[in-house]
Amino acid sequence: MSTLRLILGDQLNPCHSWFTEQDDKVIYTLMECREEASYVLHHGQKILGIFAAMRDFAQRLIKEGHRVHYLTIDDATNLHHLKDNLLQLAKLYQCQRIEYQEPDEFRVDRLLSQLHEEFAGSVSAVSAEHFYTDRLDGLHFFNKKQWLMERFYRHMRKVHGVLIDEAGQPTEGQWNFDEQNREPWRGDVPLDKPTLIMHDHQALWQSIQDAGIKSMGFVDAEHYIWPLNREEALIYLERFIEERLRHFGRFQDAMVADQPFMFHSLLSFALNTKMLTPREVVERAVVAYQQGDAPIAAVEGFIRQILGWREYVRCFYWAHGEHYQDSNYFNHQRELPEWFWTGKTNMRCLSQAIGQSLEQAYAHHIHRLMIIGNAALLMGLSPQAVSQWYLGVYIDAFEWVEQPNTLGMSQFADGGLLATKPYVSSAAYVNRMSNYCKGCTYQFKLREEENACPLNALYWHFHYIHRDQLMKNHRLSMVYRQWQRFDEAQQQAILQRAQTLLTNLQTC
Ligand SMILES: Cc1cc2nc3c(=O)[nH]c(=O)nc-3n(C[C@H](O)[C@H](O)[C@H](O)COP(=O)(O)OP(=O)(O)OC[C@H]3O[C@@H](n4cnc5c(N)ncnc54)[C@H](O)[C@@H]3O)c2cc1C
Ligand code: SF4
Repeated sequence: MSTLRLILGDQLNPCHSWFTEQDDKVIYTLMECREEASYVLHHGQKILGIFAAMRDFAQRLIKEGHRVHYLTIDDATNLHHLKDNLLQLAKLYQCQRIEYQEPDEFRVDRLLSQLHEEFAGSVSAVSAEHFYTDRLDGLHFFNKKQWLMERFYRHMRKVHGVLIDEAGQPTEGQWNFDEQNREPWRGDVPLDKPTLIMHDHQALWQSIQDAGIKSMGFVDAEHYIWPLNREEALIYLERFIEERLRHFGRFQDAMVADQPFMFHSLLSFALNTKMLTPREVVERAVVAYQQGDAPIAAVEGFIRQILGWREYVRCFYWAHGEHYQDSNYFNHQRELPEWFWTGKTNMRCLSQAIGQSLEQAYAHHIHRLMIIGNAALLMGLSPQAVSQWYLGVYIDAFEWVEQPNTLGMSQFADGGLLATKPYVSSAAYVNRMSNYCKGCTYQFKLREEENACPLNALYWHFHYIHRDQLMKNHRLSMVYRQWQRFDEAQQQAILQRAQTLLTNLQTC
């Protein structure tokens, strides 16, 4: 009895138990489907990276003695739809069984769970053997409406014994070292560009274009930088641990013009495609701490992102169901201004953050949250349009992680299920954490004038128009007290300036 096993483009884990034995009766399949590459407008680097990594993975399996049927984008027999391809291959190899690893998103999960309706044999799913948590763990863990990440994270530290001492207490006596972290970068630590592996994938990029797949962003297929297999991902991990981890916490929120990567790990693509497991990355960071290669504040700050945030948003995604994607608490409806696709805006912080997103398919979390997400929320852009853009543009964007981060954390579209208050700021924050304001057309200290930073008037306008929804939030009482301190003429001038900006977003 033959079995057809599907490997999705984000399931490139060569250590999965599927591959421990070679079996002639098992056929593995990977497929480059037009449907998967086009359900949202993806960055070209993302399509190229996933296809190149899939090809690399298929070659590895063949070398290890497995049987593989690989469908390239230009294969005449490719039906470009997961289900149709599976049924066709099952017939070709006379398979009585189709197996797949649990996918990470509702759309593909639904599609694969409906396979049995058209396939006479058996269909079954196995774990992808990647995350610390199971899909539905969040449902058991949280019983309140609000999901507090900090509680989840401490639970995870205890259960998995990560940075916990023999007495069961957090290493060095604290769960959180935020007060030592999150400084702006002032030049006292050299900011060397990370050493990257370069790949030449011009031929593959050409066939993607020949297949008519539309994409966004800039692609230099001759110098492709993202890791494309487990070995390269391990090299990226080691380089991060050796070169940048010790400064990670301190500068994790810092932004510097023309420095997209700062001290970040660049591991999200490798993690989300499962070339690396979160467990091994966390364990490697703990070893760095134990060997004295990085201070606790940096290591804890890094581990919090993976053991905490990453697992948390996954539990959140599966617990909140498919309708979560329609959340729009503030009923924001504006379409994205054209500069989201070009980076050409006079607001330097946005031209930098969007520009590097289009150029590298990457931005670190503060660019995503406090520059682009902040502006989108203050400008009242449709959270669904914003979410589609994020899902397309970033190399690491997969729905399970992108949606809670964009709709929940960044756009507060769920009304506070994930975040306790909207993450918004005026120019003061941007000026404190970056060097963007110095070279900007706008003046970060001004509010109502024609050359005033747009974020300042928009910040007050946002709080003013949503006062019925936000005033009751005790974390915002300071903001509303400050608003009351403006006299009426000032308030009117601010609101007027905001209105002018909102009707002219394209030219900001
Ligand atoms: C609006 C918004 C959208 C985002 N969309 C995505 C997305 O589509 N895919 C994605 O992987 N991350 C997303 N993030 C989280 C974060 O920005 C990226 O994981 C990070 O920038 C990737 O770069 P890095 O690997 O250098 O991360 P580092 O800063 O070095 O962090 C280490 C790792 O921690 C994990 N991590 C950090 N923050 C988060 C988080 N908030 N949620 C989940 N995992 C986290 C990632 O796996 C990351 O590789 C988003 C954040 C925001 C604010
Ligand atoms: S002045 Fe305003 S728009 Fe310009 S970089 Fe600073 S925060 Fe951004």
